[in-house]
Amino acid sequence: MSKPRPKKLPGIYIHIPFCKQACSYCDFYFKTRQQLLQPFTDALENEILSYQNSPFSRLPVQTIYIGGGTPSLLNESQLEQIFSAMQNVFRLEPLEVTMELNPDDVTSSYLKMIRSFGVDRASMGVQTFQSEILEFMHRAHNRNEALHALEALRTTGFPSFTADLIYGNPNQPLSMLEEDIRQLLEFNPPHISAYSLTIEPKTRLGKQVELGRIEPPDDEIVSEHSDLLYNLLGDAGIHQYEVSNYAKPGKEAIHNSSYWSHQNYLGFGPSAHSFWWDDDNSRTAMRWQNRADLKFYLKNKSGDIQTDQEELDLHTLAEERLMMALRTTEGISMKELEKTYAYQFSEKQIEFISGQIQQNTITKSEDWLRLTREGLKISDLLLVDLLSRG
Ligand code: SF4
Repeated sequence: MSKPRPKKLPGIYIHIPFCKQACSYCDFYFKTRQQLLQPFTDALENEILSYQNSPFSRLPVQTIYIGGGTPSLLNESQLEQIFSAMQNVFRLEPLEVTMELNPDDVTSSYLKMIRSFGVDRASMGVQTFQSEILEFMHRAHNRNEALHALEALRTTGFPSFTADLIYGNPNQPLSMLEEDIRQLLEFNPPHISAYSLTIEPKTRLGKQVELGRIEPPDDEIVSEHSDLLYNLLGDAGIHQYEVSNYAKPGKEAIHNSSYWSHQNYLGFGPSAHSFWWDDDNSRTAMRWQNRADLKFYLKNKSGDIQTDQEELDLHTLAEERLMMALRTTEGISMKELEKTYAYQFSEKQIEFISGQIQQNTITKSEDWLRLTREGLKISDLLLVDLLSRG
């Protein structure tokens, strides 16, 4: 595949497609056959090295994100292989190097080891401290492991971290969520990602819901959970800056935020996406994906693992930017939409926005449009409505 000519390369994403077991709600791409972890690391090294002497390799990289799957299944020599390959190929000048960790893999020595490779932000998959909900989620870790992992972050003085929480679980009373939040706050987290449980059709949970064995919680309860998070985290100085993300001022995620503003990134590993927008005057951008197929990835010697290359025109990019920006508390500047994306709202959209301003789900201040707190809670519905009028 011919790669577009790059201008800047802010981000690298690496997908580690292995987990100990399948969580009941998860539809990410991963395998549980961990004996393939070393052959996978070799293939990943090859994929990264295939960018040597490409125009991409001369550009400064500002963020690295190692996600999955479960990156904390990687041992020291595998991480050494991956970081050395990146160092050989790219100009690494990172402001943020994040690695996702599962609590059952985390010890102080593991944290010190990943720190030695430059990882300065741990993303801890806590989800909840409640044993019965962890079991319901079919997580590999238990409550004590979550507590020990967070304690290890504190005792090793890890520079920064974020913790994931999942709320809106069936039969999860508000008091349980409150316990989770208060427990997490004891570790003084700079950043929290809190997701409302989503029922994906091909997951174990999706099947149970389909069979009528589990009843998803109703919207009102989910909304109460969301309010509780917003209020308790806000009281602790951890503010919502995106539908699912909360941070202390200045601790917002740099890598993930760059996705929302169409910054370029390269993704490595099976199922990883890359995005490229050549320069501000270009009227198209490219997005491509590696096949979500570990077998193919392991066999591949030629670098031909990319598929689904998609050319995105300005209108598509504008709609994407609108969707992503309106999920943030910063919102979107209409001047930016016009200047960068040549996008203007249609009359029907203007009418819709005015109606929503009356209903207090959208605010307009000078050139900026933002969803209100109530609007953020129903952002998916609002955004579909807004775009369908374009
Ligand atoms: S550990 Fe993460 S990626 Fe793996 S199955 Fe669970 S939620 Fe999915």
